[in-house]
Amino acid sequence: MQSPIDSPALAIVGGGQLARMMEQAAVSLAVPVHLLAEGPDVSAAQVNPATTVGDYRDLATLRGVAEGCAVVTFDHEHVPPEHLRALDAEGHACRPGPHALLFAQDKREMRERLTALGVPCPRWAPVSDAAGLDRFAADGDGYPVVVKTTRGGYDGKGVWVVEDAGAAAEVFAAGVPLIAEELVDFRRELSALAARSPSGQVATYPVVESKQENGICREVIAPAPGLDPERAAEAEMLAMRVAAELDVVGILAVELFETADGRILVNELAMRPHNTGHWTMDGAETSQFENHLRAVLDLPLGSPRARARWTVMVNILGGEVGHLYDAYPHVMARDPGLKVHLYGKAVKPGRKVGHVNVYGDDLDDLLARARHAAAWFEGRLDDDVDPDDEDRDDVDPDEWDRGSTGE
Ligand code: ADP
Repeated sequence: MQSPIDSPALAIVGGGQLARMMEQAAVSLAVPVHLLAEGPDVSAAQVNPATTVGDYRDLATLRGVAEGCAVVTFDHEHVPPEHLRALDAEGHACRPGPHALLFAQDKREMRERLTALGVPCPRWAPVSDAAGLDRFAADGDGYPVVVKTTRGGYDGKGVWVVEDAGAAAEVFAAGVPLIAEELVDFRRELSALAARSPSGQVATYPVVESKQENGICREVIAPAPGLDPERAAEAEMLAMRVAAELDVVGILAVELFETADGRILVNELAMRPHNTGHWTMDGAETSQFENHLRAVLDLPLGSPRARARWTVMVNILGGEVGHLYDAYPHVMARDPGLKVHLYGKAVKPGRKVGHVNVYGDDLDDLLARARHAAAWFEGRLDDDVDPDDEDRDDVDPDEWDRGSTGE
């Protein structure tokens, strides 16, 4: 691919919103992007003329996209490792590389490696049948326990909280590799993001609190309210260490549980920009998308510092409103400080179609504003989310509703 500024070209595999937001950063840096998308109209394909539509599981297709690109990076972790090794051997640097991506692709590999590194994780074991699950439960506090597919899960799909082995019968019958984990009684979920370049430079973002509903990230507060500074530093160091030990290049997201007694346990790893980092688009000096690009191109990283005391991100999920643009006049008129990011996706119930960011000094106010905007886009405005309604649930940063899921 030609670049008037002589930039190397970047191939991005996967056409979702993460690729779209990487492209946004690539535009500013004038880095040409060749995209491999699942369809002609998917989120990232809409904004990139250099798009190939095809299957990321097909090596010939990947080769075609990588041609002329020095670096290949990803919007998801599902590209077969053998294809990545082939591309690497042919002179296209896959970043992150297959040896690192394995730990984001397979939860058993991830647990084994983190355990070997002495990284605190929930108690876990591979399981393949009801007797094994019963043994795992008996070794701990009994049921309920969590059962997870080792591969292919996302947004809580592939994660089950089971009350007894019978409840997992269907999962065992499917014959897919599984692990069991203790059901962690967490106080809240945190996330630590690091960007790492092949030269070994690392930048860590402030540790955030994320709230999941039905396995989907709903809200993020940066930084995590009330987090003990020592715990926060520990979590940042952990992300740095995992990134270095696993040789991750690009963004590494470490999803964490903070337990009731103040311990930090690793839930899982993602090796790409992550939903818990979307706040950085407006709330940090360098967004996770720009730092992902800088990292994979081995450029000096940008400052991850927060611009304001607080930033709140709320995801917009598909709801009642079919035409999201119709929500713009109200949302924009009501709150000129609010930043809207839509992904160009058609509305389907529960589907992530965008997010809003807002930053400032007053966390209660920011939460109310971001929730209001998301609710307006979703067409579900009611008393709970209308900040003008005095009966709304009060939002105290220390008492922030820590509803958890796990189903
Ligand atoms: P996914 O790959 O779908 O993101 P995760 O492993 O992150 O799956 O699990 C999804 C959600 O399920 C987590 O965000 C958390 O809320 C809950 N969860 C996962 N593992 C556990 C666990 N061991 N104990 C308690 N809750 C869990």
